[in-house]
Amino acid sequence: MKDRPIVRHAPALVPAELVRLTKRLGEPARDMVCVAEGNTSVLTDEGLVIKASGAQMSDVTAQDFVVVDVERAVEILHRPNLTQRELERCLRDDSDPANERRASIETLMHVAVIWETGASWVAHTHPTVVVGLASVLENERMWLSPLFPDEAVTVGEPVWIPYMRPGLELARGVGAAISAYTEIHNSYPRLMILANHGIVALGGSAQEVDAVSTMAVKAARARLVARAFGDPHYLDPIEAGSLQEREDEVARRARFTAAGRESKQ
Ligand SMILES: [Zn+2]
Repeated sequence: MKDRPIVRHAPALVPAELVRLTKRLGEPARDMVCVAEGNTSVLTDEGLVIKASGAQMSDVTAQDFVVVDVERAVEILHRPNLTQRELERCLRDDSDPANERRASIETLMHVAVIWETGASWVAHTHPTVVVGLASVLENERMWLSPLFPDEAVTVGEPVWIPYMRPGLELARGVGAAISAYTEIHNSYPRLMILANHGIVALGGSAQEVDAVSTMAVKAARARLVARAFGDPHYLDPIEAGSLQEREDEVARRARFTAAGRESKQ
């Protein structure tokens, strides 16, 4: 079956705030990405605007993004017999051969995240310290409970995703994991940790996904320091949960969260 591309190159539709967020997260000193790693996106009235494949986050301009038709992307995500090759064809805007742009192979993961949660901003990066800690054998256990109060408040309990191949497999796995998380917690996650891969921060504003990404890196560093001296003493999960509900913490978190993050139900 020959599908039309679901992406278009339309720099005029790229919000300046998305360009700024991408450059901030891509700053070399933050060590969250290198070369062409990582991607950011925001849901707009025109579709999902997402960083194009091959662009380096620290150097992006509005030219380095594409706009994805979300409804068609969701249909593709749920189509049972789609092959990776067919997907790749859908993710390419080749209407102007001299200026061809491809959406990242991780585009459908962004689509799954916004579809399952109603979040409008997504930032996917590969911070060295998190990738390292998410690549050891006891990796999942390290993220079951926070290590310090600000981690509990800003990041909460992350969704753990076992290693899956980037592309269709990962996008579908992420969608299923968020759905299971939401059923158990009756709330949406703010962070996903992808084993042997990286992190996905999601939220209602650029500021929120930046804060969650930054705190995830700090949380990984804190585990590294704790492990250097002994066994980490994690916060009791009930204590961590109650911290998130304290009035001052809820008010503080609200500053990072746009009002429109609503349940689909
Ligand atoms: Zn990635």
